[in-house]
Amino acid sequence: MSATAVWCDQCERLVETGSLTEDGECPTCGTVLREERRPVPWHFKLMILATVIYLGYRAYQGVGWLVHHV
Ligand SMILES: [Zn+2]
Repeated sequence: MSATAVWCDQCERLVETGSLTEDGECPTCGTVLREERRPVPWHFKLMILATVIYLGYRAYQGVGWLVHHV
């Protein structure tokens, strides 16, 4: 069985994700059990991009320092 399931605190039982409503709610009690597998938020991608640019800049500075001091 490859179907995943999420735990419903209200019903105290596992609910197969395939049987959740379109809004990710428990079909029995209506509690939202949507899976946490959400798409990566844009600001997270932006943060990674900023980090890469910053590290690249620091590496560039480091190379410049080496060129002038070695
Ligand atoms: Zn439930």
